[in-house]
Formats: sequence, structure tokens, C-alpha cells
Amino acid sequence: MDEFSFINSIKPSTYSQSSLLKGIGDDAAVFRADYRDVVTAVDTMVEDVHFSKATTEPYHIGYRCLAANISDLAAMGATPAYYMVSLVIPDRWSEEALQHIYNGMNQLAKSYRMDLIGGDTVSGEQLMLSITVFGYVTPGKSRMRSHARPGDVLFATGTLGDSRAGLALMLEEASISDRVAYDFFVRRHQLPEPRVAFAEELNGLDRLALNDISDGIASEANEIAEASQLSLHIDIEQLPVHPSMKQFNHYLDWVLNGGEDFELLGAVAEQDWPSVVKAAEITGVDVTKVGHVTERMKEAQVFLYEKGTRKRLDKSGYTHLKSDR
Ligand code: ADP
Ligand code: MG
Repeated sequence: MDEFSFINSIKPSTYSQSSLLKGIGDDAAVFRADYRDVVTAVDTMVEDVHFSKATTEPYHIGYRCLAANISDLAAMGATPAYYMVSLVIPDRWSEEALQHIYNGMNQLAKSYRMDLIGGDTVSGEQLMLSITVFGYVTPGKSRMRSHARPGDVLFATGTLGDSRAGLALMLEEASISDRVAYDFFVRRHQLPEPRVAFAEELNGLDRLALNDISDGIASEANEIAEASQLSLHIDIEQLPVHPSMKQFNHYLDWVLNGGEDFELLGAVAEQDWPSVVKAAEITGVDVTKVGHVTERMKEAQVFLYEKGTRKRLDKSGYTHLKSDR
């Protein structure tokens, strides 16, 4: 494969962002930030570690990797603007398959008016796709994990565990007879929708902690608890699940630990909860109160409540049945 013609083939013919000064075609890209804070994140996917060619089409590899990155921007309250792509390409991958990876990224990028402004292309043993994204946020309005406060309402968008269920269905580890539900779960795995518009709609709030649910709510709740040095309390019965989810044997494990739903977990002052509900309505996203935040109890940690009993929920999603220290 000729690297020069490949780069030419993926080079955008037009750009959407007005702050772009130089895209692909020089030693580096240049964009202007004006009076905004720049938010940046990188995510990498490796063949046979994060996806397998057998279950994931090249199109979905590109789509999901960019979606994971955009979700990180959403979780900071940022508006996506640019992305850069680093590729390690094995000989056995055809140029056509690589084009499909870019098609998947393009499709998603278009809906956010994001511009591809550069990258790097090298050959290697295993396909590796690494994407770096840039977004803008109003100065001081980044939604950090450390921003939770005692008395906050804890909320989650969408439904949880869907992506994991979709993967299980594709791998035939699980089955479901309802075709509509099958398609829903598989779609949630293949074409996740980062909650950008919802997070942007909350821009008016002074304070808000957000984390995107990429590893499972158990993990993300613990990250907020640690960063804020507080305790989080989650009511199992309030966790948002798709009506068909309960048909699966291990659905609770998927709801707590299933990754890549790319929903948002947030903590907000009780008085601002109505604004969150309104933002959800405006942007067509479901939002559910799942618990609350208190001062830390001995350690910063997460507690799970089920039918009046309390368990500790650790980062890996393991629930400590007896001790609730
Ligand atoms: P340099 O040698 O200066 O690093 P390259 O030949 O690697 O330049 O790249 C030329 C241009 O193409 C640069 O703008 C670079 O950012 C872009 N580019 C290279 N590989 C990719 C890729 N896989 N995806 C998107 N842009 C790329
Ligand atoms: Mg280079």
C-alpha cells in the first residue's frame, strides 16, 4: 500500500471548524483556541485485545473508537472539534478495510462537525487505532470528577449494560427471541451515542461532576468517590435498565460492570436537579436519579442498596455482601 495515496484518500476535502488554521498536509496541525479551554483525550484500540475482526466490522472499529473519545469530551462538558488518528497497519489488512474504518469515524465526526486534522501511519504486526480528540469548553466549566459535593443527587443517562448484552448476543453467549430487543442491544454495542448535547445543555450550571460510563457504573462511581473524597450511595432498584434486560441471567453484572455504554454518571446539587431533567428533555435523553452523595464514611467509597440491605461496591463491581465497613 502506498502511504502517500492512502493519506490523500482519507484527507478531508473541506473542514467545518472555523478555528482551524492548518489541517492535514503540513508538519503539524494548527487551530486557534481564543478564550476557551481546550479539552483533549486519547483512546487506543488494539486488534484481538479491544476488538476482533471476527465480531467487529472495520466500520464499527472506527466508529466505536471515535465514540469512546467523544464520550470523554462529553464527560468534561466539552464541545468536540478535532481529531487525529494514529494507525499501525499489518500487511494482511487491505486498503479497503482501512477505508471502512475511516468511513465509520467520518460518519460520527460529521454529526459533531468534527474535523480530521492529522495522524500518523506505520506498519506493524497488529492493527492498532489510536485517536486523539480536541474540544472546547467555556473557561472554568470542565466537569471534573472531583466536583461532587455532599447532598448531591447522583444520576445516570440512558440505560446500563446494553452494550455488554449486545456483545454477548453477537458472541452467542446469550440469546433473546425478541428481534427488536436483539437489534437494540447490538446497535448499542456497535453504534454508541455519546451524550454530548446533554452535557452541553448543562453548561449554565456552576458546578457539576460528570464521568462517562466506559468501564461500568461500579468503576465510574468509585472514580467520582475517590476524586471528590466522598461516599456515593446507589439504589440498585433505581438503576435504569432496558425492559428486556432482566431476561438475561447475569444482567445485574452487566448493569454494574458492563462497559462501553458511554452514558454519563453525574453528581449535581439537589436544587439543580430540575435543570438536569430539563436538559434531558430538550436533548431527548433519558435521565434517572440513581442515588446520592454524602461526606465520606471512613473511606471514600460506593455503597449499593438493595431491599434495605447495604453492600459495598468496589471498582471491579464486586459487592461485599457482609461487611459494609
Ligand atoms: P510527517 O513526516 O511530517 O510527520 P506524514 O507524512 O507522516 O508527515 O503525514 C503527512 C500528513 O498526513 C500530516 O498532516 C499528518 O498529520 C497526516 N497523516 C498521516 N497519517 C495519517 C492518518 N493515518 N490519518 C490522518 N492523517 C494522517
Ligand atoms: Mg508523521
